Amino acid sequence: VALGEFQLIDRFFRDLGARRDDVPLGVGDDAALVRPPSGQSLAIAVDTLVEGVHFLPDDPPDSIGHRALAVNLSDLAAMGAEPAWFLLALTLATVDEPWLQRFAAGMGGLAKAHGVALIGGDTTSGRLTVSVTVVGFVPQALALRRDGARPGDAIYVSGTPGDAAAGLALRQGRLTAPPAGADRLLARFLWPTPRLELGLRLRGLASACIDVSDGLGGDLGKLCRASGVGAEIDSARLPLSDALRELLPGPRAAAFALRGGDDYELLFTAPPAACAAVESIDGAAAPRRIGTIVATPGVRCDGVALQGDSGHGFDHFGAG
Ligand SMILES: [Mg+2]
Repeated sequence: VALGEFQLIDRFFRDLGARRDDVPLGVGDDAALVRPPSGQSLAIAVDTLVEGVHFLPDDPPDSIGHRALAVNLSDLAAMGAEPAWFLLALTLATVDEPWLQRFAAGMGGLAKAHGVALIGGDTTSGRLTVSVTVVGFVPQALALRRDGARPGDAIYVSGTPGDAAAGLALRQGRLTAPPAGADRLLARFLWPTPRLELGLRLRGLASACIDVSDGLGGDLGKLCRASGVGAEIDSARLPLSDALRELLPGPRAAAFALRGGDDYELLFTAPPAACAAVESIDGAAAPRRIGTIVATPGVRCDGVALQGDSGHGFDHFGAG
């Protein structure tokens, strides 16, 4: 990638994202200048997507742009934070203008939808890698952390976990499905929805929260370890989509929901006094109760222990 090409790349990103009054100096100087709101903490997260590891070389460029920002916004959602700014570090093997245009459109569309401004970036040459850093705001006392779950709290998950993992399996030819169902599942992998609105609504309700990136079972294990508790989940309560049930009849659908990653749904706990308010939340991100926090460490589904972070020891569902 030659120097002139970097100027070309700059063209695609100069106007990407929302305009914000709290960014007096954005992209183009040595550093951005921003004005954080007084009385709130900054919530900051970074996530990197590498071609061949986190996305496939022939994934639609607009979905790669969308996903790179969405997975970061999902981390802010899981903190109950309101997103404001982001930085983009882009490593490119080649400068492909139509590819860059679509990538920027996918990322910019999501940024504008959530009022998030791009405040800085860097480009370099190498294997295609997209690294995004997001910054948001949350009053410190209201931040949704992983370490607040207590025995007796209810466990909830938003959306329909397992769809994205099934979409990826379809994309890789490990599963086949009728076209209609395949499109829906594939879209959940390519175009994840950061549950920002839900995260804000959970302030003051949830006792602990994490977003599902590595799989519901494994991420619940992380939340439980942070809180010093355990979890009992009921497979019959897992909110499985019709598309997933049609693709994988019987218990294999539940296994995908427990082990699959890339859902970017919110997995959280709430004390009994907050359950009615949590259960009144509706829409596509409506939380469903899947179990209960207990004192005994470990995560169990239908009484069977999930082993390890990935939940891959959960074999009685027989997912291949
Ligand atoms: Mg996360």
